[in-house]
Amino acid sequence: MKAFGPVPSRRLGRSLGVNNIPPKTCTYSCVYCQLGRTIKMQVERRAFYQPEEILRDVEEKVRNAREVGESIDYLTFVPDGEPTLDVGLGQEIELLKPLGINIAVITNASLIWSEDVQKDLRRADWVSLKVDSVSEDVWHRINRPHRALQLASILEGMLEFAKAYEGELATETMLVEGVNDGDEHVKEVADFLAELRPARAYLSIPTRPPAEKWAQPPNEKVVNRAYQILGDRVDHVEYLIGYEGNAFAFTGNAEEDLLSITAVHPMREEAVKEFLARARADWSIVRKLLEQGQLVETEYEGNKFYMRRLQGARG
Ligand code: SF4
Repeated sequence: MKAFGPVPSRRLGRSLGVNNIPPKTCTYSCVYCQLGRTIKMQVERRAFYQPEEILRDVEEKVRNAREVGESIDYLTFVPDGEPTLDVGLGQEIELLKPLGINIAVITNASLIWSEDVQKDLRRADWVSLKVDSVSEDVWHRINRPHRALQLASILEGMLEFAKAYEGELATETMLVEGVNDGDEHVKEVADFLAELRPARAYLSIPTRPPAEKWAQPPNEKVVNRAYQILGDRVDHVEYLIGYEGNAFAFTGNAEEDLLSITAVHPMREEAVKEFLARARADWSIVRKLLEQGQLVETEYEGNKFYMRRLQGARG
C-alpha cells in the first residue's frame, strides 16, 4: 500500500501519507532517523513505482475516509526515505490534484540544487525543507550525506527555490545534543533561515528511537535558547517536540491549554501571567505542573520561560 492514514498532524491537520519510496532509500543517513540506518543510499533519481499505482492506493484511502465522514486536509509525501529521489514525483502530484486536496512534501532538500527537483516541488501546495546545519562538518556528522552531495549547492538550491515558490514553505531543524545545538551553530542556521524566509520554521528533537543511540535531544534550557535565537531572526518559529499542541485552540481548561501552548513555543513569565488572568486562573496551576514535571522553568537572558517537558529528554 502506497498510502496510509489519515493521521493527525500538527503541521497539516488531518494528513494522508503518500509513500512513494521503498523502505529506507535515502540520500542521507541521519543519526536521529527513526527508520534506522539507511539501507539504500543513493542520489540518482529513478522510478520506483508506477504513478498510477500510487494514485490508485491514495484514491482508495480517500474513498474509505470519505465514506466514514473523515476529513483529509493534506495528501503528504512522507515516505520511508527521501521523496524527491522518485523521478515520478511531479507526475504523481499532477495525478493527485484532481482529488481536490492540498498536497504537501516533506523533503530533506538534498537534491534541491537540481532544476527537475525544484520543478516537481513547485507543484506542491506545502513544502518542508530540512535545515539541520549550514556548516560542512556538522552537516556531515548529523545527516551523514551521500558522498556526491555538496552542502553549498543544497543551500543555494533552497534559496533559489524559496524565491520562486508560490506555496507555503516550512523548514525543519532537528536538534541533537552536542552535535548542532551550540549557540554559535544555531545562530548560523538562524541567519540562513532569515534569508530563506519560510512561512514557519519548526524546531524538533528526536522523540522516537534514533538510528544511533547517542543521538539524544538537548535539554529544555538548550531547546529554549535555540528557540529564542531563531525567533530573533525568523518569524513563526514553532516546536515539534512530539506533542500535538495547538497554540490557538482553547479548550477553556487552563491547565490543558497551558500545556498545549508550551508544547508549541516557550512562554515568558509575563505571558503566562496574562494567560492565567484571562483564563481566571492563578499561579497554582503552574506550580502544580512544575511539581508534576509536565512543565519546566528555564531562563534566557534574565527572563524566565516555561515550556513543556520534552519527551525522552533527561533532566
Ligand atoms: S533524511 Fe529523513 S529518511 Fe533520510 S535518513 Fe534523514 S531522517 Fe531518515
